[in-house]
Amino acid sequence: MWSSVRLFFHPWRLSRPVGLADFLSGPVSFLDLPAQQRRLGAALRERLDRVLAHCRFVMGPEVAELEERLARHGGARHAVGVSSGTDALLMVLMAEGIGPGMAVFLPAFTYTATAEVVLLLGAVPVFVDVDPHTFQISLPSLEQRLADVRQDGRLKPVAIMGVDLFGQPAPWDELNDLATREGLFLVADCAQSFGASYRGRRLGHEARATTLSFFPSKPLGCYGDGGAVLTDDDDRAALYRSLRSHGEGSQRYDVQRIGLNARLDSLQAAVLLAKMDVFDEELKRREAVACAYDAGLPSLVRPPARVPESQSAWAVYCVTLPSRALRDSLRARLAEAEIATAIYYPMPLHQQPAYRAVHDGVALPVAERIGEHVLALPIHPDLSDEAVAHVLAVTGTWAEEQDEPQQ
Ligand SMILES: *Cc1c(COP(=O)(O)O)cnc(C)c1O
Repeated sequence: MWSSVRLFFHPWRLSRPVGLADFLSGPVSFLDLPAQQRRLGAALRERLDRVLAHCRFVMGPEVAELEERLARHGGARHAVGVSSGTDALLMVLMAEGIGPGMAVFLPAFTYTATAEVVLLLGAVPVFVDVDPHTFQISLPSLEQRLADVRQDGRLKPVAIMGVDLFGQPAPWDELNDLATREGLFLVADCAQSFGASYRGRRLGHEARATTLSFFPSKPLGCYGDGGAVLTDDDDRAALYRSLRSHGEGSQRYDVQRIGLNARLDSLQAAVLLAKMDVFDEELKRREAVACAYDAGLPSLVRPPARVPESQSAWAVYCVTLPSRALRDSLRARLAEAEIATAIYYPMPLHQQPAYRAVHDGVALPVAERIGEHVLALPIHPDLSDEAVAHVLAVTGTWAEEQDEPQQ
């Protein structure tokens, strides 16, 4: 295992002087799963072979072993492995009895999963604007939206879903204070941030329930769908275990409540166990790539604002351009150079067709604007120094051309 890690993290070593040609080679992918598999090597195969040998594909020993490691890594008492980050969110809300007539507050600038589970349960998502610098949920907007709902009187405010957007922490201390003061249940959607830390604490128990996603592109990804719920609360942990398995009680055919089929596969748990061994190294590599981008980007391209007192898990490295035209132009130039990019998110949730009808029409100006300016650059542990230099060289050349007076 070590030899492969060392090879992979070996400083950039070239046998001849670095020339421009070195930067202009090969496509740069957004995520390199074949390289990841090569790097994990025998450890991954061994883990998978063990499952193929024991054949306990559902709730095999890997699930409990992984739960133990996830809980330890996140600093939580319990981890419950589930089938996806979306099911994790759904179960957490089900456990609180969230349903019709209730309002759940969440940022408008997030992935649809955060909001869709609210509607699946018959409750109403109330969209909140985000901070113009960090893109995390805006506290002033949250207070305003809460006041709006209370004044309107039709819905009962019950919960806040905080989201660690792009791998950086939401303002958890302030969210906790607000939730306690207002009597609301706080959920931490850490789908993008497992491995990050905030004020010296690993993200994993900032809220009563923390949800994780192991979708392949997340910082800790499996080879399919997977997720988990972390909690310090013994009763809730037991409830989540029941909910993920058809609401069963202590016995197999003892049906205590309406639940889901939302278990984590043994094969996915095996992949994740192999990846846990290199996870901290991967986080370091992501941070190194982020630092290289921060230092090397031209001034026209603004690096992500870092949330103070935090360490990001760098699920996404999202830069901001002064206009949509410049963003689209840079994206096209990077595509020509075979550098993959992505836009998270082109449109805030309250403007999406699926949510327009449930939104109360209140303007959320930051969320409505930033989708036109953002661009995510490749960041993953298998991104080579050469690839990072290539991205920076193409971006730098593009920026110089923009600075030239257009005649
Ligand atoms: C990916 C993601 C989810 C959903 O996770 P899945 O495992 O894909 O179901 C939820 N919330 C956020 C913020 C995400 O990025």
